[in-house]
Amino acid sequence: MDIQAVSTAAYIVASLLFVLSLAGLSKHESAKSGLTYGMVGMAVALAATIALVVDDSAGTDNRALALGLMVGAIVIGGAIGLWRARVVEMTGMPQLIALLHSFVGLAAVAIGWNGHLLGASAGEPASMVNIHEAEVAIGIFIGAVTFTGSIVAYLKLSARMKSAPLVLPGKNLINLGSLVAFAVLIVVYVVMEESDGAQEWVLVALTVLAFALGWHLVASIGGGDMPVVVSMLNSYSGWAAAASGFLLDNDLLIVTGALVGSSGAYLSYIMCKAMNRSFISVIAGGFGIEARTGDDVDHGEHRELDAEAAADLLREARSVVITPGYGMAVAHAQYPVAELTSRLRARGVEVRFGIHPVAGRLPGHMNVLLAEAKVPYDIVLEMDEINDDFPDTDVVLVIGANDTVNPAASDDPGSPIAGMPVLEVWHARDVIAFKRSMAAGYAGVQNPLFFRDNTQMLFGDAKERIDDILHYLE
Ligand code: NDP
Repeated sequence: MDIQAVSTAAYIVASLLFVLSLAGLSKHESAKSGLTYGMVGMAVALAATIALVVDDSAGTDNRALALGLMVGAIVIGGAIGLWRARVVEMTGMPQLIALLHSFVGLAAVAIGWNGHLLGASAGEPASMVNIHEAEVAIGIFIGAVTFTGSIVAYLKLSARMKSAPLVLPGKNLINLGSLVAFAVLIVVYVVMEESDGAQEWVLVALTVLAFALGWHLVASIGGGDMPVVVSMLNSYSGWAAAASGFLLDNDLLIVTGALVGSSGAYLSYIMCKAMNRSFISVIAGGFGIEARTGDDVDHGEHRELDAEAAADLLREARSVVITPGYGMAVAHAQYPVAELTSRLRARGVEVRFGIHPVAGRLPGHMNVLLAEAKVPYDIVLEMDEINDDFPDTDVVLVIGANDTVNPAASDDPGSPIAGMPVLEVWHARDVIAFKRSMAAGYAGVQNPLFFRDNTQMLFGDAKERIDDILHYLE
């Protein structure tokens, strides 16, 4: 059997399955089958790759070693992946994804260096050698930027590093200068002869520069823009994989990398539009943004109420809108929220949900939680669909949301989240904000909503407080 031909056919099948997987994942109803296509595609791809490696090393002493190394790597990697996926909390997903992107970046760096050490195939014409070297340099560059960028994203998302943007003097010049330096280094690397020992050092300089640039790019982006960074790094990891595909002459890796790269770039673009951010500015590490990080304005006094008073307000209300945020996910409050919704609806109250596009810590986070708790889809509305209805709403329950309901985004041009569209809950008659303290949201800015006359704070864990309200609503 011609293993090469069979593997090529298997790669085409796997590529098609990946395309079907992406198509399936774009709708609630087909998301499960989308995942299945992806898993089957990956199994086909792995089997074909193992067969290819075994076939390539046929007749050599390395056959058993190659097979052993591959199977060992798959078993160890698969076991760790399975374990992490089983134990990770929904709220920990973004940092896990960022960490996984860093692995893709590191793998691309390793593959690039391997390509350099092995050199182009013997007897290649000079032009092909130059192309090989350009692939090595580009692969290492994209991989290294992805690696350190993803590590910083991981540290910021898991609160191991402050989410405020790093504002070095001349940060835009640093980024632009690094790109120019990269262009120069790549030309020098390709033009230089391999026999000249200095070529290796050029590649070392290029690798170090890319590591530093990746770190700086993501460190310069503030907390509020992190959703875009996560999808942008997703895109970078795709391009890093595609670059490795060129180097390894592996068509499937090129196709898969391009799918991930372009879909990640498009998602970043959609999210930038939703958040009123400049796409170029975000991918260029907050280019042109001079973010203000401090927040020492005196907002005055806030008012508090208890669960019993909240239950009274709800009992009297005709229309209620619930705007959930990250705190609902932390508290696992979606189940009592669903119960509260059905109790209020049973009393004839109109209850709807307003979902901000970046509420929580990953796109669609709130929709997934509400669907899990069986809240009907038709009362879960997007921000644009509900924003005009707040003036006619009696009570808004802000459950663990903060940045996504912050009026400073529209009122304060100096705020780090200025310009981001938010749920305009303050137009409602009464607002009840569920949170544990007066602490700031993810972007690190205080929320003037909590000090408005029509807002009352209901302090404590969101799940416990909603359980209390349910008790008083009996
Ligand atoms: P925020 O992260 O701004 O605020 C969440 C609030 O929940 C906090 O103020 C916290 O206050 C409260 N909270 C935490 N735990 C509990 C609990 N157990 N019970 C009650 N309240 C709790 O939330 P939003 O959803 O409004 O905004 C999301 C932010 O995350 C945005 O800045 C967005 O840019 C960013 N982001 C979004 C991503 C996405 O793709 N969706 C990805 C990465 C970042 P306290 O501590 O006082 O209780």
